[in-house]
Amino acid sequence: MKRFLLLSACISCFTMLTLAQAKYVFYFIGDGMGPNQVLAAEMYQAELEGRIGRVPLLMTQFPVVGMTPTFSLSNAITDSSAAGTCLASGQKTNNGMIGQTPDGTPTVSIATKLHNEGWGIGIVTTVPIDHATPSPFYAHTPSRDDYYAIGRQLAESGFDFFAGGGFHAPENKQVSTSPNLYDYCEQNGYFLAGGYDEAKANMNSQKMILVPASCLQDRSAHGNALPFAIDREKGDLSLEQLVDVAIDYLSSRARFFIMVEGGKIDYSGHGNDGATNIHETIDFDRALAVAYRFYEQHPEETLIVVAADHETGGMALGNSDYTLNLQVLQHQRKSSGYISDIIRGLYQSKGNQLTWDDVQACLSEYMGLYTAVEVSNEDDSRLRKAFDQTKKNEGNVKTLYKEVNALASTALEILNSYAHLDWSSHGHTAAVTPIFAIGKGAEKFTGWHDNTKIAPMIYDSTR
Ligand SMILES: [Zn+2]
Repeated sequence: MKRFLLLSACISCFTMLTLAQAKYVFYFIGDGMGPNQVLAAEMYQAELEGRIGRVPLLMTQFPVVGMTPTFSLSNAITDSSAAGTCLASGQKTNNGMIGQTPDGTPTVSIATKLHNEGWGIGIVTTVPIDHATPSPFYAHTPSRDDYYAIGRQLAESGFDFFAGGGFHAPENKQVSTSPNLYDYCEQNGYFLAGGYDEAKANMNSQKMILVPASCLQDRSAHGNALPFAIDREKGDLSLEQLVDVAIDYLSSRARFFIMVEGGKIDYSGHGNDGATNIHETIDFDRALAVAYRFYEQHPEETLIVVAADHETGGMALGNSDYTLNLQVLQHQRKSSGYISDIIRGLYQSKGNQLTWDDVQACLSEYMGLYTAVEVSNEDDSRLRKAFDQTKKNEGNVKTLYKEVNALASTALEILNSYAHLDWSSHGHTAAVTPIFAIGKGAEKFTGWHDNTKIAPMIYDSTR
């Protein structure tokens, strides 16, 4: 009898073990999202409520928290392609490389492994779908700039679903007989959905690529990223919508894996744009909430992991004494790049007739300067000097994804300084990044893990 009981216990134990697998996996990657980016978004929201503290994001409420260093093989500071390769496959490589080790050996991503086992696969991002973080999940090239080759491999991947900005380089400039990438995707069985409604109306298509409608109106054009959350206008796609479509599309599958990148947290870090960065992190968390609602319906079978590829900008919360004033950033209504374009438009339309008053009104409208936010005499002089520079098209600040004129960049610096939010770099840093996890197999992610460990641990959770 005793032996029988032991045997039954073992059988039920075994049954529990075999059931302890994730069937639905969400892998969220905040590009450039270090711990301070997360905390800034939380403390900003508390300051808007008139208090010191945090309004917790969903990700920080997950029960499991870990940390990861992010260095690559070629540099202590990784770029997104080496970090993406590692997060996708568990193998470090040199900066600039996509889905291969330095000797050219292709890495095998967790998405490819699961695809080969019959899982439904979705790759979702706010930036072009052939960009450095999503591409190591399906492509292998020595350079992240081989956009056309990356796009071809996307079309040939056989993955079920892609969503994001359009192809960076849909035409092969070197070989004119090469097909346009959108056409090539159609030839490979993909339905091209231009926007949310078109995607939702075609849930039965065999494979799908969802991009902004504008990308399909001119298939040869450089496919832009989605707009920043702070710049989003009615009709623009959001990451939240992309995740919603991805789940809807893949939920008929017995098992699915969805990678979701918040790619523009990084862009705003490169631009040292505090308000835009905070809005982008909050927006990423909103997209996470869509996956979390799915988790609530399938808690025994779902794993959600949130990681970051690296930190961008060296964001510092505090730059003098014991003061933080993040709430002042609420007066910034658009990204610095957007504001720069508005200012440039003013210069173009008014030419020499443009006055300081015109520009000051613009700084008030988009950044609250001179109205909601008092400007010191010293900063007033800086802005007036930048006004003269911008007239002569001098003093532009060029960062990785955007060139901003002197006036917009000076105004941005001033507003950030009033928030006491500072930056150490226009590039990436070697700072550790956070991991948050919930669901089946989440407990493994507690602690300090190298970034090589994340993809294998997710894969283990599906065994
Ligand atoms: Zn970056």
